[in-house]
Amino acid sequence: YIKSLPGDQFGFYNKEIRDKVVDESELESEMEGAIERQEFRIFVQPKISIQNNNRIVGGEVLVRWDNPRKGTILPGQFISIMEREGKIILLDRYMFDLSCKWLHEYLQSGNPPINLAVNVSKMGILREDFVDYYGSIKEKYEIPDGLLELEFTETVMLSDDTVFNGLVAKLHERGFICSLDDFGAGYSSLNLLKNLSIDIVKLDIMFFRKSNDIRRERIVISNIINMAKELHIKTIAEGVEFTETVEFLKSAGCDIIQGYVFARPMPLEDFERLLGETKSLSPTDENKAVNIC
Ligand code: C2E
Ligand code: MG
Ligand code: MG
Ligand code: MG
Repeated sequence: YIKSLPGDQFGFYNKEIRDKVVDESELESEMEGAIERQEFRIFVQPKISIQNNNRIVGGEVLVRWDNPRKGTILPGQFISIMEREGKIILLDRYMFDLSCKWLHEYLQSGNPPINLAVNVSKMGILREDFVDYYGSIKEKYEIPDGLLELEFTETVMLSDDTVFNGLVAKLHERGFICSLDDFGAGYSSLNLLKNLSIDIVKLDIMFFRKSNDIRRERIVISNIINMAKELHIKTIAEGVEFTETVEFLKSAGCDIIQGYVFARPMPLEDFERLLGETKSLSPTDENKAVNIC
């Protein structure tokens, strides 16, 4: 495998690249059967309605892999391998199934409705049985309409917007909410906002990284929020880490924040406990710092 690296014959690949390749091929083989061994877990990051007393209105389901050799690892390390290997569809469906199972039990116990969002990879939506699969799991677990949200990234978008909108229409019929993830990270963003019949747009994390011109940053963000509002699309700001950004987003009319400033992603059990303990969260500048799971 290493020998087939393009740089190898010229001798200019470095150790870092080699280590990465070795590790990727190790992860790749360890992936075999990992779903069946139940090594993938649900983490949830709360979503906070900043226009409504900072209420917890839901959460995004994020996968974590309890790798026997490396401990708990983040999706950034293995999602792209799974995409390459064609394993991502199975993982996405597994995560969705677990999410619905949990939500079913949560609602059965008499708890108030909560929104749950799951990520869907590009490969997933290209499958002919995509809508039927997600719809049938939703129905199997008797999840009411309007609680399950499917997140599609910009890169997931099909070359043909009408095909994607056709899928959105079918998903709406089956009671799903559809959101556009990582908005602003791609190059054709505004065009997507114009053409896609999505319900929610998630402003990419990169909008909220410290920029050296906060005035320009805020002009761009508040105008995207206004545009979305006029198009009847809700806005979620992702990756917000500072309380002053929360204040700005609130005045700019942003609906929801999902960021360390309110809460990091947490194990599903902790999310359930949090919901039992409190209805709202306060922003704090103390959650940032080192990247943990
Ligand atoms: P995403 O869907 O855009 O999810 C948001 C990511 O931003 C999460 O990273 C979350 O931990 C991170 N984040 C949220 N707030 C903050 C913040 O304030 N600061 C910083 N620095 N980061 C923040 P995570 O969990 O590592 O997931 C990365 C990506 O992996 C996700 O991006 C999504 O594209 C993908 N992913 C995660 N779970 C799944 C899954 O089950 N299926 C698929 N297909 N993709 C998944
Ligand atoms: Mg997402
Ligand atoms: Mg995102
Ligand atoms: Mg992403």
